[in-house]
Amino acid sequence: MAGRISRSISNQAYLASKRSNEEAGKGAGISSLPETKSIKEPGRSKRKHVKIVHDDSAHSCTAIATEEKKEKWEPENWQEVLDNIREMRKDRTAPVDTMGCEKCGDETAEPKVYRFHTLVSLMLSSQTKDTVTHAAMQKLRAQGLTVPKLLAMDPDTLGKLIYPVGFWKRKVEYLKKTAQILKDQYDEDIPNTVESLQSLPGVGPKMAHLCMDIAWGKLSGIGVDTHVHRISNRLKWVKKPTNNPEATRKGLEFWLSVDLWSEINWLLVGFGQEICTPVSPKCSQCLNKSLCPFGRSSLRSQKKSPGVPLNLDS
Ligand code: SF4
Repeated sequence: MAGRISRSISNQAYLASKRSNEEAGKGAGISSLPETKSIKEPGRSKRKHVKIVHDDSAHSCTAIATEEKKEKWEPENWQEVLDNIREMRKDRTAPVDTMGCEKCGDETAEPKVYRFHTLVSLMLSSQTKDTVTHAAMQKLRAQGLTVPKLLAMDPDTLGKLIYPVGFWKRKVEYLKKTAQILKDQYDEDIPNTVESLQSLPGVGPKMAHLCMDIAWGKLSGIGVDTHVHRISNRLKWVKKPTNNPEATRKGLEFWLSVDLWSEINWLLVGFGQEICTPVSPKCSQCLNKSLCPFGRSSLRSQKKSPGVPLNLDS
């Protein structure tokens, strides 16, 4: 099933990857994990460590190979749950499928302009529905969305173009400041590391990891937004409940195979938009209703108190 509905590398990410690699003079393909400390293989439960022990009597050091049992953890039935989500997402009818940040940039523009579009759409997308972000991007692109043009635009005009994205006034400031930094420090391109992306005004870890994936075609981490955060906790896909997206990202990256990192954002965002919604998730229609701890408990309570709407956002 993994390859059946997997997004793996979307056309855009592939194009972005190709562009960036062409520019960098490297071979095509997704480079991986510049900042990931280790890649866990699911199923691997033990690591061999060499422990150096000082032997006082012999005045020598003896290398003793010891096997340290590393605690293995992965959520119960996660593959079945994942396959069910793929099945529920197979028609690609969620807003993210047609209006997500991957769909907001002009693929025909020169590579660094496309990358700038991706960054701008991600900056606009926080606290904003995909439909609103997409509409704002269309208006910006109609003006010719480049670093110099954004710098030349007066803040009022920019505000009118992006309204009503969430926190639009603050985002006008962030966009203007970011455009100036890109002009001064990056030759009107965007940075190509998570750290440097996060140093831009208003850019957090979720945006930085998604930007690396979509704009540069490089996987650096899972993009965890409010949908991914909520659903991961409902499904108990994190070992302990987490109270912020960054903790959820680390919890997911602990066990989830790297080749699923890109797909999981897209899958869960759309799933959260259509079925596993923040309020009143459609648990009774969900293929995971017998596997999901949250769904099982919600459906049990609904049986006890029919008519009471689910409003149990986690
Ligand atoms: S059963 Fe309900 S809470 Fe669980 S994944 Fe499905 S919709 Fe979400």
